[in-house]
Amino acid sequence: MWICRNCGKENPDTAKTCTACGEKSVLPPKGAQPKRRAANAPAEGTPFVARALEAAAWGILALGLMGIFVGLFAAIPWKGAVLLVLAVTAGSWALLAKGVAQAVRDAHAIRARLEREE
Ligand SMILES: [Zn+2]
Repeated sequence: MWICRNCGKENPDTAKTCTACGEKSVLPPKGAQPKRRAANAPAEGTPFVARALEAAAWGILALGLMGIFVGLFAAIPWKGAVLLVLAVTAGSWALLAKGVAQAVRDAHAIRARLEREE
């Protein structure tokens, strides 16, 4: 089955020309599409540093949340302030780690694209 590029009618594979308008059967050249897709796809393989930093960011966030959760039920002086500092610290470290991870990934993607174009 192929679809006429001229009128859009579906034609059987055996037909050399469109049964409706006579347009020649034109199949997209093999290999053209996958190549274009590969160029648009993100660089294959995320650098280990980026993945490690991302994991660290989630770890920090989880630890921070756990600390806040535990702190809610623990008797600590200045509880509000301690929990706030904990949240802000964990949040900013996690954001920092995520930001660096993103920067590493971007740099990697740009380098991979440049290498492919050369
Ligand atoms: Zn046609």
